Amino acid sequence: MAVLKELDQRDAATIGEELHRFAADLYPICRSITGDGMRRTLAMIQDRIALQMFEEPTGTPVFDWTVPKEWNIRDAYIARSGGKRVVDFQQCNLHVMNYSVPVHTTMPLSELRLHLFTIPEHPDWIPYRTSYYKEGWGFCLAHNQMLALEDGNYEVCIDSTLKDGHLTYGECYLPGRSTDEVLISCHACHPSLANDNLSGLAVATFLAQLLFGQDLRYSYRFLFIPGTIGAITWLARNCETAARICHGLVLTCVGDPAGFHYKKSRRGNAEIDRAAAHVLGHCGESAEILEFSPYGYDERQYCSPGFNLAVGCLMRSVWGSFPEYHTSADNLDFIRPLQLAGSLRVCAAIVDVLENNRRYCNLNPCCEPQLGRRNLYRSNDGDTIGGEINTRLWVLNLSDGEHSLLDIAERSGLPFSAISKAAELLCENGLLSAIPATTAEGNNPGGR
Ligand SMILES: [Zn+2]
Repeated sequence: MAVLKELDQRDAATIGEELHRFAADLYPICRSITGDGMRRTLAMIQDRIALQMFEEPTGTPVFDWTVPKEWNIRDAYIARSGGKRVVDFQQCNLHVMNYSVPVHTTMPLSELRLHLFTIPEHPDWIPYRTSYYKEGWGFCLAHNQMLALEDGNYEVCIDSTLKDGHLTYGECYLPGRSTDEVLISCHACHPSLANDNLSGLAVATFLAQLLFGQDLRYSYRFLFIPGTIGAITWLARNCETAARICHGLVLTCVGDPAGFHYKKSRRGNAEIDRAAAHVLGHCGESAEILEFSPYGYDERQYCSPGFNLAVGCLMRSVWGSFPEYHTSADNLDFIRPLQLAGSLRVCAAIVDVLENNRRYCNLNPCCEPQLGRRNLYRSNDGDTIGGEINTRLWVLNLSDGEHSLLDIAERSGLPFSAISKAAELLCENGLLSAIPATTAEGNNPGGR
């Protein structure tokens, strides 16, 4: 199975435009950790992949947490008493602090200010604020917009509901030959924020489309969940399934112009960590590998000590480190078609490594086999003869049953795709035989 090869037959610019268009379609929806915004988002993903929706009722205990009340919002504004709206949710859903309780009252500006949030350093940007676990209300607006508010009374209205309901999440399962699983997880709870949220959703959806119908070694599970509480809820409901996860990626912030960052799993040397580092080292863009830390996205939950799953996090810009983070400047201009396509390509290359990484036995281990006699001492694929022969010799030399193809790729410095292709060719010529794959190479599935 060669996902990357299939992807590379298509035009990256076109794929990038499609990814961006999908993010743009999802952009206007006011999402939150619960409610109809999440359902509408999942329904739009459902138009593309076989996604199953799950609803967990408010009050359900999930480990140390409880599924919260469901939040929905229809409208919100600040208006001059009896006058026109000066802050309008219909213009931008970031204007309302996410999870604000309903309010409809009139108050002087001095009192209203206690409920207003701005970013003085970026006076034209609207901040993104939430208050999931502490009831309150607030408005977010550009600092300049706040400075322009004149003294006097304002009508304040948040037409929201916060009541018993459900937490909704979506799951797409693609069965493979093994029940061992690869997890792809992204949070889908942010309103109109493009990089931190929609880039991950779009890339994960397209990756699922790419894998659908393929003959897969692993089974793949794609999760579209509210951040933190969604991962906790899923893990609480799926302990047995979690034990089958051999490799996983949290995808987020994969559309901005920066180079890649991969944050390792808590294990630090899991196959996914090595596969990601290898692919990024050969992807042609700048890339940095970060050690695990217990703060970040949902890898925090997957890598909590009770699960300790081999789940890393793939990003371009790191959360919290770019000025646009959690502001209205994280918009559709901030994410770029080519960067989205590049991120999808990296994901496909990582999947290719996981799918094809196995050990082989050199069937002719005493001295080099005579390649010329087998017509293997010539280029097969337009690469330089020296390059291809070098790759074949690496594979032959290290295929002693101990080294996996990823080991060989790391040690030789050659890309996994070339190593894997050489192994295939050598097998066809009777010089190698594959050692039957058991589970993940050098991994400890579940890790409980
Ligand atoms: Zn965020």
